[in-house]
Amino acid sequence: MRVRFRPFLLSGILLAASGPAAGSPGLHPPEPGLPEVPGSGPLRVRFYDPYRLLSPEAHDWLEKEVVRAFGASEIGLTFVGRGGPGVIPATLYPELPGRWDVAPETIGVAIGVHGGPRSIFLSLGAAERALGFPLARRQGAPATAKPSRRRLPGSQSRRLGVALGRVLAHELVHTVAPECPHTRNGLMAERLSRRMLTAPGVGFDALATRHLRLAAAGMAAPETG
Ligand SMILES: [Zn+2]
Repeated sequence: MRVRFRPFLLSGILLAASGPAAGSPGLHPPEPGLPEVPGSGPLRVRFYDPYRLLSPEAHDWLEKEVVRAFGASEIGLTFVGRGGPGVIPATLYPELPGRWDVAPETIGVAIGVHGGPRSIFLSLGAAERALGFPLARRQGAPATAKPSRRRLPGSQSRRLGVALGRVLAHELVHTVAPECPHTRNGLMAERLSRRMLTAPGVGFDALATRHLRLAAAGMAAPETG
């Protein structure tokens, strides 16, 4: 069944908070001890689903959507099956840990944007609430609650995968182009409505694309130290 789109739900979904608040220790340290290797594009991303929350279909949609979003950016982006130097880990949690000082509607967080190991975290619960899925976890449910890989109808799998992919794309821009501000339109908007999370053809706007092309040029340039 298609979830009906209701205008009054359009606002108030805080997409992303990139800040020191999320630098909590211990959760999923991204490959400690391995050096970051900037300037060695293309961009490689490893998606982790340690709780096995996503169906294979939703996972597939997620990766396809990120690749699609970056298609016009001149940044070559690939998903890889293993972490390693220069690979950006993106980890899906049932909920972002409550001790992180982020709003409960936050779907994605990027850390290490201004130095240090880079890592991205996504919240399944926040994404499901943003999409209005009827079985969405209650806000504030403990992140340690036993997760289950529910079978979603195909259209919901797709919507969930696409929405998470768009949030991941947004966070990746913070990670690889930290100078890019939030934009008024497109996927770098500070808040993404339900429509923006799932409607066909939503991408980065001209400003974000410009920042991405600059970043792509920097990634392609030889390392000068
Ligand atoms: Zn953001």
